[in-house]
Amino acid sequence: MTATLPIPPHFALRHQPRRLRRRAAMRAMLRETQLQASDFLLPIFLVEGTGVREEIASMPGVFRHSIDSCLQLCGEAVARRIPGVLLFGVVAAQCKDASGSASWDSNGLVQRATRAIREHYPDLLVIADACFCEYTDHGHCGVLAPDGDRDDPATLENLQRQALSYAEAGVDVIAPSGMVDGMVLAIREALDAARYERVAVLSYAIKYASAFYGPFRDAADSAPSFGDRRAYQMDPANRREAFRELALDLEEGADMVMVKPAMPYLDILRDVRERCDFPVLAYQVSGEYSMLRAAAAAGALELQRSVLESLLAIKRAGADAIISYFAIEVADWLD
Ligand SMILES: [Zn+2]
Repeated sequence: MTATLPIPPHFALRHQPRRLRRRAAMRAMLRETQLQASDFLLPIFLVEGTGVREEIASMPGVFRHSIDSCLQLCGEAVARRIPGVLLFGVVAAQCKDASGSASWDSNGLVQRATRAIREHYPDLLVIADACFCEYTDHGHCGVLAPDGDRDDPATLENLQRQALSYAEAGVDVIAPSGMVDGMVLAIREALDAARYERVAVLSYAIKYASAFYGPFRDAADSAPSFGDRRAYQMDPANRREAFRELALDLEEGADMVMVKPAMPYLDILRDVRERCDFPVLAYQVSGEYSMLRAAAAAGALELQRSVLESLLAIKRAGADAIISYFAIEVADWLD
């Protein structure tokens, strides 16, 4: 008489998810989210001069570029099939004033860069960040009222000037980032009235007052000289407020919306994705970049794997496209 062998418990498991993970071909076939170069937009910081390519101390591997150097970088983006760039102008202190008027100069940095990119790389999308903090002498995102608070009606008027100037230079998309109530409507109306109805608006609809913007302020020389931006950016503790911001900006005519920062706000990104059918973009901000870079430099993380994982998480959470300082490197890794 033979003894009955006890059945090891794993034989009794009808479902073993591991069956589908054993071989690389199976994993590739079943992968739910894929990154590709066309998912990314490259932010570029512009400065005056020629042949300028200066590294930003708090963002190793990211540079401020004069227009000629920016064109070179755009060429690298085009070669890697990155669909577009997001332009930020960084002007000298003597060009700054209380309203940020250098931002709507038809011969300003962003305007000239746009025309140059248009000429050399007609298929590359040009998105212009529309705000004032890089252009005001006080570093706030608009005109200030005597009490030190932002004067939103005056700021909206200037935003219209800025948007028209960018549209005239040939941008495809205007991306207002100042969290001014009514900014999308103001820009849309100004564009339509001037027959720029083909220019799209990407709203930084859901922008949190985040500590992760630290290195950007160094890069764009846009730190407020007093106070902070909590009076107009969202409280990191709030989720429902994001839905109100989303609804308002869509009602005002935004073509696309953005969630910023990305990785610390993946829950919000997922919520926004589920609540609207408009394209949703996410901005992997300077602090997210510098954190990964620093951890890799310290030997704590493997750069390529951790960057790709962070971006995959952002896409999986619902981003249609990701603005990332890693865009060029990532395109190379994905190749
Ligand atoms: Zn700003």
